[in-house]
Amino acid sequence: MTASRPAPPRSTAGRGFLACSVSLLLGLSSFFLVPCGSVQAATTQSAQQPDSWSPATVVQGIPYQSVNELCNFYKLDSGVRPSQKGTLALGNTDISLELGPGPLSMRLGGIPLSLSHPLARDPRGSLLISRLDWVMWLDPILRPTYIEHREPISTVIIDAGHGGRDSGSSFEGSSEKEVTLLVAQELRSRLEKAGFRVVLTRNGDFFVSDQQRVDTAREVPQAIFLSLHVNSADPAARGPEVYRLAPPEDAAHPAPGNAEDARNAALSYALESALSSAAERVGAGCCYAHYSLLSSLRIPAVWVELGYGSHPLEAKLLVSQEYRGKLADALVRGITAFARATHPQTHFTVTPPISQPKPPQKPAANNKNSPAKKATRSSDSSGSSRSRRRRRN
Ligand SMILES: [Zn+2]
Repeated sequence: MTASRPAPPRSTAGRGFLACSVSLLLGLSSFFLVPCGSVQAATTQSAQQPDSWSPATVVQGIPYQSVNELCNFYKLDSGVRPSQKGTLALGNTDISLELGPGPLSMRLGGIPLSLSHPLARDPRGSLLISRLDWVMWLDPILRPTYIEHREPISTVIIDAGHGGRDSGSSFEGSSEKEVTLLVAQELRSRLEKAGFRVVLTRNGDFFVSDQQRVDTAREVPQAIFLSLHVNSADPAARGPEVYRLAPPEDAAHPAPGNAEDARNAALSYALESALSSAAERVGAGCCYAHYSLLSSLRIPAVWVELGYGSHPLEAKLLVSQEYRGKLADALVRGITAFARATHPQTHFTVTPPISQPKPPQKPAANNKNSPAKKATRSSDSSGSSRSRRRRRN
């Protein structure tokens, strides 16, 4: 837990993306994040206060706060709706938070969030949540206008994963590199209509190194970075997932994180909420990853797994233009919600496009190789690893 980061002020009830997430929990339909912008305005009235935590309960060296304190702060009540055995359901008219049933299980607005530290209990049996998970997951989502050093977003850098000799995973006669590029192109046109400037790290079937992707992002101000991929695992796994770097204090995921941890949390949640709604499926949700590509960036950056090419039904969806359009629409909703939530004064205006990276003059000879038909595990070029909870049984 970073001592330098102020605790949430006690005087303001938290309201963020969650005003819109309850519908996802209830029905996976008609889920729109955009109206949240009006909710945010109410949270900007109170000035941020200095550290106001109650004394921490230290569990194995980790500072924890009581869930009661969290409830008081965000004005949450228990028993607002039925909860499954072993799960504590908390909420109000805007927020739905479930803790449990496992020690690492937390769902906000129906979206699973990977905890850095397991839930714990104090000697009197009261439930505890780590300060890190409160500050680096819940608060940036519930109160995005309190994120420090946030700036308005004007540009979206879309990184279509793989390309050229690096096909990624293969499925349904297509490949990861093809699907990510098609979604990137669909997304670009939609974002430009919405008033964003857009940069593609590749706009064709050619190989792009991680360093080239990072170099492209470094030159762009007021931007966010989305790396698009298709997942692959056992045939039962399915659903979109969004990965962010773990914060540096996360002992289970020892990675450097970056200065944008809080905005990464808000961005990943906005995207996962929108994608889950479009896919009508909540999978593993928001997870941590150790991609070197993400850790090399100095702007909000997330890794988006659009779905599982290894799932027979989801693979068929991913190769359909209609479904890719739904995903692109969802990403626009998520990006717009993030931009407005973190900066309520954002006004999208049409701006001139910026120059796009050009493909190499002489594509590598093996670019012409057709991808294998069999579903294969993605070999992400970053060479880095990711750590996430195993999926449901
Ligand atoms: Zn990939």
